[in-house]
Amino acid sequence: MRYTVIGAGAMGLRYGILLQEHTDAHVDFIDTWQPHIDKIREQGGVYVSRDHENRRLIPINLYTPEEYDGDPDVWIIFMKQMQLEEMLKRCAHLFKDHQVAFSAMNGWGHFEKIAQYFSEDRIYGGTALVATVLNGPGDVDFIGKSGAGTMHMCAMTNKVTDIEKAIFADFQKANLNPEISDDFKGMCMAKIVFNSVVNTLCTMYQITMGQFISYPGARDMAMQLINEAYDACERAGIRLINTRAEELESVDYVSRTGNPLHYPSMYQDMSRGRKTEVDYINGYIAKIGRENDYVCRTHEFLTHGVHLAELAFQYH
Ligand code: NAD
Repeated sequence: MRYTVIGAGAMGLRYGILLQEHTDAHVDFIDTWQPHIDKIREQGGVYVSRDHENRRLIPINLYTPEEYDGDPDVWIIFMKQMQLEEMLKRCAHLFKDHQVAFSAMNGWGHFEKIAQYFSEDRIYGGTALVATVLNGPGDVDFIGKSGAGTMHMCAMTNKVTDIEKAIFADFQKANLNPEISDDFKGMCMAKIVFNSVVNTLCTMYQITMGQFISYPGARDMAMQLINEAYDACERAGIRLINTRAEELESVDYVSRTGNPLHYPSMYQDMSRGRKTEVDYINGYIAKIGRENDYVCRTHEFLTHGVHLAELAFQYH
C-alpha cells in the first residue's frame, strides 16, 4: 500500500513514521512549513523521541505539494483546521479518482473541505486518543510508550470497505490500536466533546491534563460541558458512540492515567503564537445548539474564553 501524509506535523509524522517502520507500506510526506522542511533536509530526517527519550534520526521522503508527483492509494491528512483549505488547494493537482482520504483531525470542518476533492464514499474519518508534540522544526515526540494511545476509524458512508480493512490492518501493525466504528458522526462527536473539555480548559488555564483532573471540581466542570453538548446533539438527532457517563470516564482516565503530563495541542498552538482550533470544537458544539433552538451557554462562553486566552498570551 502507498500512503502520502499531507501535513508532516506532530500527528502526520506519528502516523507516517509508524507505518514506515512497522509495515511494508511506502510512505511519503508533504508539508509547506519552510523552516521544518529546511531542517529535515539539513539533518537528513526527523528526530523522533518516545516520551522525551531515545531520540533518534529517522529519514523520511518529504516534498512540497509543487515538488510531489506521487500517486498514493491513501492520503492521510493531518493539518490544523485553519490551514487545511489552503493546503488542499496546493495539493489539488495530485488527487485522483482511485485514491481515498483518511483524516483523524480534531474538531469538525475538515470533512466538508476534503469532500470538495473526494467523493463521500472515498472519505474515511478517525479520532485519535493519543498525544504527540512537535518540539520544533524537524523534532517530534511521540508521547506514551509503544502501543500507547487508541483510535477509532469509520467510513463517511458508515460501510466497511476492503480499503478500510487494509488501512485498519496497517494501523494495527503500526501499533495505533485502531477500532472500526459504524457511526461516523457519533464517533467524531465523541472526540469533539472530549476535546471541548480537556483541550479547552487546559489551554485557558495553561495546565497539563493531570493538573486539570487533580482539581476537585474537574469532574463537575467536565460533566456540565458534556451535558450541554449531549443536549445539543440530541436536539440535532446526533447519537454519540459513548454515553455521557462513558465520556466523563474517558476524560478522567486519559487525563489522570493516560497523559497526565501532556499539554493538549491547543495549548501548544497558543503558546507558540498560533491560533487554536476552538471554533471547530466548542464553537462547533455551540453552532449545533444554535441551529436547534438550544443555547450552549458554557460552550459559547468558552469559545470566547479561549480566544481571549490567545490574546492574553500575547501580552505576557
Ligand atoms: P501540527 O501543528 O504539529 O502540524 C500541522 C501542520 O502545521 C504541519 O504542516 C506542520 O508542519 C505545520 N506547523 C507546525 N508548527 C508550525 C508553526 N509554528 N508555524 C507554521 N506551521 C507549523 O498539528 P498536529 O498536532 O499534528 O495536529 C493535526 C491535527 O490532529 C489537528 O486537527 C489536531 O487537533 C489533531 N490531533 C492532534 C493531536 C496531538 O497530540 N498533537 C492528537 C490528536 C489529534
